[in-house]
Amino acid sequence: MKNRLVVQIGLALLVLLGLSGGADSADKVKAVASFSILGDMVRQVGGERVEVVTLVGPDGDAHVFSPTPADAKMLAGAAVFFVNGLGFEGWMERLEKSSGFKGKTIVASEGVKPRTMVEEEGGTPETITDPHAWQDLANGKIYAANIRDGLIATDPDGKSVYEANAAKYLDAIAKEGEAVKEAIGKLPPERLRIITSHDAFGYFGAAYGLEIIAPEGVSTESEASAQDVAKIIRQIKAEKIPAVFIENITDHRLLDQIARETGAKIGGTLYSDALSGPDGPAPTYLDMFRHNIGTLTAALSS
Ligand SMILES: [Zn+2]
Repeated sequence: MKNRLVVQIGLALLVLLGLSGGADSADKVKAVASFSILGDMVRQVGGERVEVVTLVGPDGDAHVFSPTPADAKMLAGAAVFFVNGLGFEGWMERLEKSSGFKGKTIVASEGVKPRTMVEEEGGTPETITDPHAWQDLANGKIYAANIRDGLIATDPDGKSVYEANAAKYLDAIAKEGEAVKEAIGKLPPERLRIITSHDAFGYFGAAYGLEIIAPEGVSTESEASAQDVAKIIRQIKAEKIPAVFIENITDHRLLDQIARETGAKIGGTLYSDALSGPDGPAPTYLDMFRHNIGTLTAALSS
């Protein structure tokens, strides 16, 4: 009698496990994120309830992305689409329209104070919005809160889960922000000027006290002109700027040339607009900051 009961309970458990296992992936909220950094943030807040697919993957350049029919099909099947906004995904509206996407679009940077700059494109000055707001961890907290609210609006049953995950994540982002400030604070102030290939670290520089000079503008779409490069080479020599940094998403030949002509050293690779793959040094948003700070500290402390 006792044995039969045990067997029955065992069978019931197996059925339950089987059901929950089978229902799991079908019941998950399908989310699409425009690029890898945002994809990780959605995973952190969504946890087990959300299945996240990223359009522009590790080491990919979202500025020059062109979506495929497969991307459109994937978006069509999603409940929610997370984008950076601030003009980062110039291809986004066309993709939304062509895919027939009917879900919610959540702009993660909503509420961020945007940085603007004047860039000269073909001799005409133009005011440009800098989209790289995620490079300031204070903005990262705004992103995480928007992701939480977007997931709750899409899947109200998961409210308590998203709130708990977000609270933990917001705490971790705040702690990383303190660590970044502390690490930069230890560097000699006269060395806090660096060169990167495109202007992706404006928010980072403004938040943590680093001057960033970039031959390319805030997008990678247009190449640096010969005059821009000559100007930067003069500036590096005149101001004795110590190091230039390669980015994971861009070709580094231009920076190699600048380093050769100025004697500035190549300080390493910074992760700007994309994460590394899972086995690389920056598989998550917070790992990206840890890696970048380690690279900056190693290159600028001596
Ligand atoms: Zn960029």
